[in-house]
This record gives sequence, C-alpha cells and structure tokens, in this order.
Amino acid sequence: MQLKTVLNRVQKFKSFVYKDVKLLEDTGGLSLLVTVVPRSNSRAVCSRCDKKCSGYDQLGERRFEFVPLWGIAVFFLYVMRRVNCPDCGVVVEAVPWANGKHQLTTTYAWFLAKWAQRLSWKETAEAFHTSWDKVFTAVSQAVEWGLAHRDLSDITAIGVDEVLWHRGHKYLTVVYQIDEHCKRLLWIGKDRTTICFMRFWGWLGQERARNLQYICSDMWKPYLKVIAYKAKKKGMKMVHLLDRFHIAKNMNMAIDKVRATEAKELASQGIDLLKNARWCVLKRPENLTEKQETKLAQLEQRRNLKTFRAYLLKESFQGFWEYVSPAWAGKFLDKWCTRAMRSRIEPMKKMARQLRNHRQLLLNWIKARESISLGAVEGLNNRLKLTVRKSYGFRTLKATEIALYHTMGQLPEKPIAHRFC
Ligand SMILES: [Zn+2]
Repeated sequence: MQLKTVLNRVQKFKSFVYKDVKLLEDTGGLSLLVTVVPRSNSRAVCSRCDKKCSGYDQLGERRFEFVPLWGIAVFFLYVMRRVNCPDCGVVVEAVPWANGKHQLTTTYAWFLAKWAQRLSWKETAEAFHTSWDKVFTAVSQAVEWGLAHRDLSDITAIGVDEVLWHRGHKYLTVVYQIDEHCKRLLWIGKDRTTICFMRFWGWLGQERARNLQYICSDMWKPYLKVIAYKAKKKGMKMVHLLDRFHIAKNMNMAIDKVRATEAKELASQGIDLLKNARWCVLKRPENLTEKQETKLAQLEQRRNLKTFRAYLLKESFQGFWEYVSPAWAGKFLDKWCTRAMRSRIEPMKKMARQLRNHRQLLLNWIKARESISLGAVEGLNNRLKLTVRKSYGFRTLKATEIALYHTMGQLPEKPIAHRFC
C-alpha cells in the first residue's frame, strides 16, 4: 500500500490529487514531501469570491506543513496558480488545505491547537518538532474560528471578575457564563474600568442582556455602578448578587491585616506568639495541619488577642451561607455586623460596613443559591489564574487572551472527516 492511498483516506480533495511522495533526508532530519497537483480539467477558485475562474499564470512552489507521521515532518508541495477573476481581477487561487498565506495546513493547525489544550504551548512545540510561533498561529486560528462559530443563545447567568494580568498592576475584566448547562469564559476586557465593562454590554447586545436572570460580581465599584445602571433599563429582569468566594477573600484580607499589625506590636514587646500564625487563622479549621491546630490553640489561650477575636468573627460568618430563607439570613447578617462593629478591630469594622452597604446583594445570593452554579466563579477564577500564570512568558496581552479563550472558552471545533488526534 502506498502513502498516497492513506492520504486519500484521511484527507481527500475534490479538485486536487496527490501526485507522488518522496522521502528526503537533510540536516533537518527526515521529511516526507507530497507533491499535490490540480485534477486535470479542474479550474482554479478565486480566493476572494470563491468563484471558479480561468487561469492567469503560475507562481512559485509553496510548502505547506501537514500532520507529521512516525516522527517525520510531512509537507505538501504545490505550485500556486493565479486566476483572472471577472470580479476581483488577477488573484491567487484558493486551496482547500490552507488559509491565505499560512504555512500550516488547516488540518495540522487544528492538530496542534488540540494538543495545545492538553500540553503547554512550549511542550506542544517540542513534542512535534515545531516552533512556538507555529503553535501560537495554530491556536490563534482555532480560537478565531471558535469565537466566530460559538453559540451565544441561552445565556441566563453570568459572573464578572477582575484578574491581575502580568506582574504589576494591570487588570483584566473577565465575564463567565455560569449556567448549570454551560460554564465558560465569555468575554475579556483590557481594563477594569466602567468604560471597559460597558463595552461588554455593547458586545452582548440588548436582546441577550434581557435574557439574563442572574449576574454575580465582587465589590469592585465600577462593576457595581455599571450593573446598577443596566439593571434599571427597560425589560431587564436580572438579579445582582455578590459572590461568596469574593466575600471570603475580603474577609481573609481583613484578618491578615489584623494579624500583621498585631504581630508587629507584640514583636516590639519581645513576644513572638503570632510568628508563623498566618495560615492557621486564614485556613478553614477542617484544613489545618496538626501544627497549625496547636498554634491556634495557643492563640486561644490569650484572651483579648485581636487576631483570635477576628478569627472567631470570620468563622462565625460562615453560618450566613447556610441559610435558605433570606429573611433569617438578613437577621443573622445584621447581628454579625453589630458584633463586628463592637469589636473595636478596624479591619473587621470596615468589613461590616461593606457588608451592610451591600446587604441586598448578599441576600440575593441566598435567593439564587438553588438556581445557579455559584461555585462556578471560584473554579473558573482558579483555572484562569493558572492559565495567566503559565502565560507570563507570552509577553503580549493578545497571546494571553488567546490562551484564555482556548482553555476556558469551550469553543466549538471545525468538524473534520478524519480525527488526527
Ligand atoms: Zn473573485
């Protein structure tokens, strides 16, 4: 059996045939060169309007990289023609195995893009003896196609989040879909300002916005402002709620502040009680190590230690998330805030003021808890951070964006006759 037979099974073209296959060995190693020619009497297609046209002339031979076989690089060799199109003039022909000026065949690009979901881009490039740039091109094409073909109907719940991009203080705004039937990254904005988030709504469009039932956010003011403004628009029925995961994050930041300040005060008196105490007050009790448990018990011994009182406040707030009835949850919240205000611990008082200011949005969480996938934001946020961290080497925001859509966008893939991987 010849290689041509295999090629005709996995990748057959209507107007082109495989003429011959040669094995070449040079300094770059082995490669298979597959010469492709037009089927006799077939006419070339204009690459601008897709019409069949009469030929004009021929250009030089081009190489297109195809899926490697047995660790051997495979290239299609083809002499491109130009057509004389009545509508577009003299134009290069379209070929079914590649797009425009791309060196990679479409099949190979999808192949690399698929692997780049399983491995890092660098690993993908190494595994297939190709360059990082080619993997990047392949993934970009896959993402571009996926974004153009994704289904945006039936989005009823979304979450907005800010994420630190790159070392320094650059933030991105990301919007997730958090429906039970579909959890994915929907949109990325290059900032975390009001203007940036307004762009999301422009992209979403009125009709899809009216379909929204829930929107989840943190306490970042520009987002709160935009959501409040949007919610007032005619025909909008969405309920705004604050995400549990973000409240927990803020609560931990408050505790950390209390601990750091107090540790400094004690250290100046020569007491190292709060040394190594950071994680034992930040972690949930069930996640503590034995050592951390002992440390916590030590802190408990010292009455009036601010850190320990703040810790108790934080832990008791967990009770809020257990409520089913918004009315009872509201009572709990008010009581908790009063306790925190009386604690005379400034970071906890600040937390209480914040929670009071957003009371309704917190109670909306209790109302929505059964309807949407509320854990989703945290899960997506963690995955996103991991991808962003991995993409630090990317240097450009464009590459980071592509990586995020590629790993978290749940983008559709072009249907192909033969699955190469
Ligand atoms: Zn044309």
